Amino acid sequence: MPRDAKLWTFQSGIIDWFRANGRRLPWRETNNPFHILIAEVILRLTGAAKVEEAYRLLLAKYGTPTLMANANQDELLKIFKRLGLHQRATLLMDISKELNSRFSGSVPRTYAELTSLMGIGPYTANAILCLAYAKRVPMVDGRVARLFQRCFRCPIGSDISKDSRIWRFASELLPNSNCREYNLGLVDVASLLCKRTKPRCNLCPVATMCQSETEQASLIPDDRVKKNSDINSGTHARDC
Ligand code: SF4
Repeated sequence: MPRDAKLWTFQSGIIDWFRANGRRLPWRETNNPFHILIAEVILRLTGAAKVEEAYRLLLAKYGTPTLMANANQDELLKIFKRLGLHQRATLLMDISKELNSRFSGSVPRTYAELTSLMGIGPYTANAILCLAYAKRVPMVDGRVARLFQRCFRCPIGSDISKDSRIWRFASELLPNSNCREYNLGLVDVASLLCKRTKPRCNLCPVATMCQSETEQASLIPDDRVKKNSDINSGTHARDC
């Protein structure tokens, strides 16, 4: 398949699938950068379903950097206890204090400023840039990297956040429009279908072009992909 046709097939397959099957989650209904930041921080290492209630409680009480920075730590900890992620409460308060002191209580709009914040790496920075500020940037977590590895035979490093090749490659795959739907679609296909074991290739929108589907993707090793920490890096590649 010519490269352009392959690109189009991949992009449109992911976008169309997302429109029909994508998860409707509360943090996907907003373009408030701070709310997206909250969601990304509490979603790390935690499933979306488990996070939903905590996300709603956090927004109701601490929906701005100022409210979060001045939160009652005990109350905040109670919310995070539900997730078993106490350290996330402290991180969110620290980030909020930094937003207040360095950015007048706003979430910055540039990659360099976002990644200068404590605990914010390439994945979270690009998620905020794409989902809140409509920037055309890729979102590559460990699962998305695994999908690229399987579909395109991309070599991937042990730390996706520092793997500039995969970020450059992901950037080249981006569609010119509908980037939000494309990125969210990729995240969903990667986590719901392209699972570590027993991928559900029969339901996958890019199965016809996947280089692993015909070779039993479930047997492809992906142990080098670390579980999502922030999954940072954020540049742009071509040579996968
Ligand atoms: S066809 Fe299977 S292995 Fe290939 S991207 Fe889809 S789910 Fe993953």
